[in-house]
Amino acid sequence: MKILILGGTREARELAHIASGERGFDIVSSLAGRVRDPLLPEGPVRIGGFGGVDGLRKWLVANEIAAIVDATHPFAGTISANAASAATDLGLPLLHVRRPGWSEKPGDRWIRVPDLDAAAHTLVGLGDRVFLTIGRQGVAAFARLTDQWFLIRAIDPPTGELPPRHELLLARGPFSPADESRLLAQHRIDVLVTKDSGGDQTDAKLAAARAAAIPVVVVDRPALPVDAVVAATVPDAWEWLCKWKSR
Ligand code: NAP
Repeated sequence: MKILILGGTREARELAHIASGERGFDIVSSLAGRVRDPLLPEGPVRIGGFGGVDGLRKWLVANEIAAIVDATHPFAGTISANAASAATDLGLPLLHVRRPGWSEKPGDRWIRVPDLDAAAHTLVGLGDRVFLTIGRQGVAAFARLTDQWFLIRAIDPPTGELPPRHELLLARGPFSPADESRLLAQHRIDVLVTKDSGGDQTDAKLAAARAAAIPVVVVDRPALPVDAVVAATVPDAWEWLCKWKSR
């Protein structure tokens, strides 16, 4: 009754921690292997892509996986879709763990966009100095913007083409609202760009943007399959796993 936890998030590590301490739960966590120095979950871990849906399907069969928990980041749309497709093909139960997205508060000036290209398009006219906090992937969508200056923050250096005028800040959250406010002031930031990651690890920048009255371009999440079973929190995911095990 082995369970695969697709990870790379705090929720995945918390779930692995809980399951590792329980008798009878045989789990294996999977990481994509993108970050140089990943925070490892408790228990067995495998690292690296599976090789698309086909590779994932084969891996699930070879490793006798009985259930899948997709606790990947809300923006890891490909692996979530691959998990959904492989689970359907093999008739495996699948739970997606998705923390709720952020919502606008009084004083916020958010502009919601469907993807990174739309975010780049929207930036024109919003300000000259941009704080780009979308992680290391997808920065290339902003590479054509030659008029703006970018402060690009990511855990590891971004891949692909970068905007010509930028400074790179390598850092891993959580960050405090005071630190974020200082950063905005220090770099005279006019506009913030973020993915709607949700959670409290990286939301301090939103409070700082509110306090500084600067606009925030918020990129919406990729959609999950319509029939997806979703848990918003780790306790909900754990309850789902316990119910599945005792069915
Ligand atoms: P993605 O676009 O959905 O996935 C791209 C490919 O990476 C997948 O097709 C798969 O390769 C491999 N992959 C992704 N997650 C994997 C996992 N947990 N285990 C094994 N292979 C995995 O994902 P992404 O946006 O590149 O994110 C990669 C990882 O970083 C995810 O695990 C995610 O939880 C974490 N993360 C992502 C973000 C973000 O903003 N996207 C932020 C924080 C953490 P194959 O097709 O070869 O199987």
